[in-house]
Amino acid sequence: MREPRRIEVDGDPDVQGELQQTLLTIFCRTLDSSRLPPMTVLGMMAEALGGVYRQAATAHLTQPCPCGWRPMTEADIAALRAAVETAAKLRTSADLAWMEVVGRA
Ligand SMILES: [Zn+2]
Repeated sequence: MREPRRIEVDGDPDVQGELQQTLLTIFCRTLDSSRLPPMTVLGMMAEALGGVYRQAATAHLTQPCPCGWRPMTEADIAALRAAVETAAKLRTSADLAWMEVVGRA
């Protein structure tokens, strides 16, 4: 099995931080409003991300785009899976403290 290709995320740490904060806020608000278990909400968010990939890939396969991205579904999905795994395994106590603040907002 080939090593999944890495997704380049070092282009703009501000964009990465903004996305993470937005998703964390959505996660905490959904936990509060739905009373669903955390893994259920995270699973739904993962399905939503997969849906965004599918829509973006379909659009890029059906019409030319100036960005030049040519989706390679199997490799792209492997790269997304690896990115989620890498990020999920990095744990710091600062992350949990930040999550509590967002959850009370
Ligand atoms: Zn594009």
